[in-house]
Amino acid sequence: MKNKKVGDTMSLSKSRYCTGIRCKKELWLSCFKSEVAEEQDNDAVLDNGNKVGDFARGLFGDDYILIEYNDNKKIMIEETKKYLDKKPNIICEASFNYNNNFCAVDVLKNDLDGVEIYEVKSSTEISDIYIDDISYQTWVLKKCGLNVKKSYLVHINSKYIKKGKVDRNKFFKIEEITPRDMGLIEENVKELESILNSDREPDIDISLACKKNKMVSYDCPFFNYCIRNLPRPNIFDVGWRTSFNKKLDFYYNNLITYSDILASGGISTKADNQMNCELNNLGKIIDRDSIKKLLSTFTYPLYFLDFESYQVAIPEIDGTRPYQQICFQYSLHYYLEEDGELFHKEYLSEDYDGNPMYGLCKQLCEDIPMNSCVLVYNQSFEITRLKEMASLFPEFSDHLLNIVDNIKDLLPPFRNQEYYVKEMGGSASIKKVLPALFPGDEKLDYHNLEQVHKGDEASNAYLSLKTLPYEEQEKLRYSLLRYCELDTYAMVKIWGKLKEVSE
Ligand code: SF4
Repeated sequence: MKNKKVGDTMSLSKSRYCTGIRCKKELWLSCFKSEVAEEQDNDAVLDNGNKVGDFARGLFGDDYILIEYNDNKKIMIEETKKYLDKKPNIICEASFNYNNNFCAVDVLKNDLDGVEIYEVKSSTEISDIYIDDISYQTWVLKKCGLNVKKSYLVHINSKYIKKGKVDRNKFFKIEEITPRDMGLIEENVKELESILNSDREPDIDISLACKKNKMVSYDCPFFNYCIRNLPRPNIFDVGWRTSFNKKLDFYYNNLITYSDILASGGISTKADNQMNCELNNLGKIIDRDSIKKLLSTFTYPLYFLDFESYQVAIPEIDGTRPYQQICFQYSLHYYLEEDGELFHKEYLSEDYDGNPMYGLCKQLCEDIPMNSCVLVYNQSFEITRLKEMASLFPEFSDHLLNIVDNIKDLLPPFRNQEYYVKEMGGSASIKKVLPALFPGDEKLDYHNLEQVHKGDEASNAYLSLKTLPYEEQEKLRYSLLRYCELDTYAMVKIWGKLKEVSE
C-alpha cells in the first residue's frame, strides 16, 4: 500500500468512508502509515469478491453497460454521464463524485423516474457496515442530483445448492436497505475529511470495533500497532477462547499484565493455567490418567488422516453450496500393528476442472479398510467433510460413514489442558502444539517446506495448478504433497509423545 503524504489532497471513497466509520484512527493509519499494518493474506477473499461482483453484473440480464476501471476517476465519471441520460438502462460501476467524495455503484438501475442502487457483497450475511456503505453511496448520488428511489444489498444465499448452471436469482439474496439519515452522513463526511486533512494521528483507544463482529466484517490490521506500548505478555495474549469482549473488560479496568489479572481473581481455569505457566516458568501440566484413557481407545490398524480443501463463493460442482469446503487431497500415515512399520499413502487430485472429491473418495475407501481406527486432529472438520462427501456419492456412502464412526481425535488432550507447556501460548492448534512438543526439530518445522507452509497456501496452490506450465505444476504438486504429509507425520509424532508421557 503506498502512503499518501499529510497535506496531499485526499478524497473520500466508499471504502474509506466505511473504514472511518469503524475507526478514524484506522482511516488515518491506512492513508498515512500503512507500513505498520499486519500483512493480511486476502488474495482468496479478493478473488472471490471479484468473481461475485462480475457475476452480479448480469442481475438484470446481459444487456448492461460497464464503466471500465480507470486510475483516473474523472474518465469513469465522464463515461457514466454519457449513459445516464439514455435511460432506462443498467450501468455497472456507475461512477460519481461530489466535492471529493467518489463512489462507483456496483449495479445502478437507471429508470425513467430515478435510480436504484445495488451494492454487491460476497458474504452470506449482512453486516452493519454494509448499511453505512450503501448510505454513503445514496448520499453522493443525491448530492449529484439523482433521485435515489431505493437501495439494495445483494449478497450470497448460503443455502443455495448448485444444480446445472448457477442461477443468479437463486444464488443471490437481494434485500432492501433503508439508508441512514442523510444529515448524519453529511456530518460523518465532514468529520472524516478533517481526519484526512490532519497531520496528527487520531488518539483513539482500542474497542470492540478492532475485531470482527456483527458491526465490522474483518479484524483491524493495525491492532498490534495500537497495543504496541502495552507490557508483554498482556491480556490480549491470553488464549483458551477468552472472548475479545472479556479481554476488553480487563483492559478497561487496567488489568493488563498476567500478574495483575491473576491477582484480581483470574479469568478461567485454563486461562489462569496459561498465565501461571508463563509467569512462574512452570514445567508441563500432564494428566496421565486422562491421556492413558484416550490412548486405550485406539486400536490397530491405526490410521492418521488429514484433508486439504478449498472454498469458492460461486460453487463449481453440482450438489455443493457457496463456500463449501471441497477436499482435493489427503495424507495417510498408518501402522498395521503395534510396534510395526510406519507406512504412508497420499492422494492429490488431478481433476482440476471436475470434481476432485470423487477420485479422492474412491482412493480413500481403498486406502482405509472398513472398521479401522482413524486418528485426526480436530475431528469436526474431517467428520463434516466425510459426511458431505457421503451424501454426494452414494456409492461410497457406507464406507465413508464407517470411517466417520471410527474416527478418534488427538486434539482433546491439548484442548482440555491434559498436556500443556507454556510454549503452546494458550492454543491447542497443531501449529502451536507441534513446535512446543518438539522444539528445534527441523523435520517437523513447516518453515522448512517449499512453497506451501499452511492451509490457505495449500488451497491457493491447488486452485492455481491448472494455470501453470507442466514443470511448475509438478513442482507445486510435490510441495502440496510434502505439506500434507507433514500434517499427518506431525500427528504420528504427537501420538508418540502422548504415549511416552502417559507411561
Ligand atoms: S486496532 Fe482498533 S483502535 Fe487501532 S486502528 Fe484498528 S480499529 Fe482503530
